[in-house]
Amino acid sequence: MIDGLLQDKGEGLLLEGARIMVDLHHEQGLDASLAVKAGRIVGIGAKDSLRQQFPKAERLDLTDFTIMPGLINAHTHVTMSFFRGLGQAQDAKDKTADSSMIENFFFPAEKALTPELIEALSYPYLVDALRSGSTTCVDAYFFMDGVAKAMDRLGVRGFIGEHIADLGGPHPAGGEVWKKTRAWIDGWAYSSRVQPVVYAHAADTVSFDLLKELGSFARSRNLPFHMHLSQTHGERERVLRRERKSPVRYAHDAGVLQERSLLVHLVSADRQDLQLIKQSGALACLCPVSEIIYEELPDLSLFFEEELRLALGTDAAASHDTADLLFEAKAMALFARQKKFQLSASQLGSMVLHEAAKTLAPNDLGGLAVGKLADLVCIRNGLESEPQSRPLTNIFFSAAHRQVEHVMVDGHWVLWRRDLVRVSESDLKERFSLAFSELKKRVNLPIFQSEKSLTTF
Ligand SMILES: [Zn+2]
Repeated sequence: MIDGLLQDKGEGLLLEGARIMVDLHHEQGLDASLAVKAGRIVGIGAKDSLRQQFPKAERLDLTDFTIMPGLINAHTHVTMSFFRGLGQAQDAKDKTADSSMIENFFFPAEKALTPELIEALSYPYLVDALRSGSTTCVDAYFFMDGVAKAMDRLGVRGFIGEHIADLGGPHPAGGEVWKKTRAWIDGWAYSSRVQPVVYAHAADTVSFDLLKELGSFARSRNLPFHMHLSQTHGERERVLRRERKSPVRYAHDAGVLQERSLLVHLVSADRQDLQLIKQSGALACLCPVSEIIYEELPDLSLFFEEELRLALGTDAAASHDTADLLFEAKAMALFARQKKFQLSASQLGSMVLHEAAKTLAPNDLGGLAVGKLADLVCIRNGLESEPQSRPLTNIFFSAAHRQVEHVMVDGHWVLWRRDLVRVSESDLKERFSLAFSELKKRVNLPIFQSEKSLTTF
């Protein structure tokens, strides 16, 4: 029994005394109680009336906390924790880094991965996500069975996609893998917390016919569709040479610009490309920190002028070393400000919650409201973030991940006083160390060896 931790035992759980950010569109929260039962929010209102409505519910005093919806990290590769530090070791002047990093580091290490290693290698980034307030990760990688198991073990919500690419990469991932992936999706065997998406790696690595098939499968099953698009200038050049059209036009012609599509990076997209995306209703996902490290920031003014739907992701530990989405949002606001655009806390709230929720699961996710899934985060209102006259602004610009104290997913606490609830952290650490040692035995990369070799990369 963890000290002070109360879970819903079937009669509900009342969270009392906190400020509740019912909607990240609004600066001020409500001073109210929130009732959770069977995984969902069943009431938000005055303490006495909820006590009357749920007389047998457990009662938890959360005075001096702000409760906000769990954040949605719209683009991750959680397994790539093992590359942490690689992005920072990259030469800031090397403009050819895109292909050299991918071919010299990613592919050899990824070739050595096995389905058995994936689960344990995914733990660090998932723990990082929970401790910085994200309850949901939209993930894409190889051998997704392992990622699904890691998410299930920790209690993270996931929308996961198996890597499909028939024109290159460290593992064969063309038609045969797609056939297996279709069967995997149709026979889905995980908890409802972990859901499938269709994932096409990128425009330069997926052929037109396969891309078309992936899009039409996603539509037929009403699944989200996830893809890197125009992620580098190199990709744009390769696709222009091969197809005589931009990557975005290529995706459009293959029918994958659709309302439930999540298109990531768009670094080399031009205004016409963004207009195509806008017309389709698809969601654009930016990972500004990762983009700066690996390529460059896209022209943010184009995104704001064309009024694209925007979400944020942290990408992978190989580029952005942390899964901290609050940090990403603050960075986004600063980068936008440099372009003379001012992003309010409620606009940042839309990017880390509402827009991704509309694409992934509009009925279940997207805020603290009766009927929604109980995915929430309790931020400790410490003296360090006083005064609290603009609480939502405080969350994004001053509270930061260190004040994330408790995290609930599906109505159950998965992080309590920053400790993992469902699993022992030391056990996970041991499993990760074993898997990482095994990976290092299989592939000899300087990044894995010592600090010295890191600096000489
Ligand atoms: Zn990515």
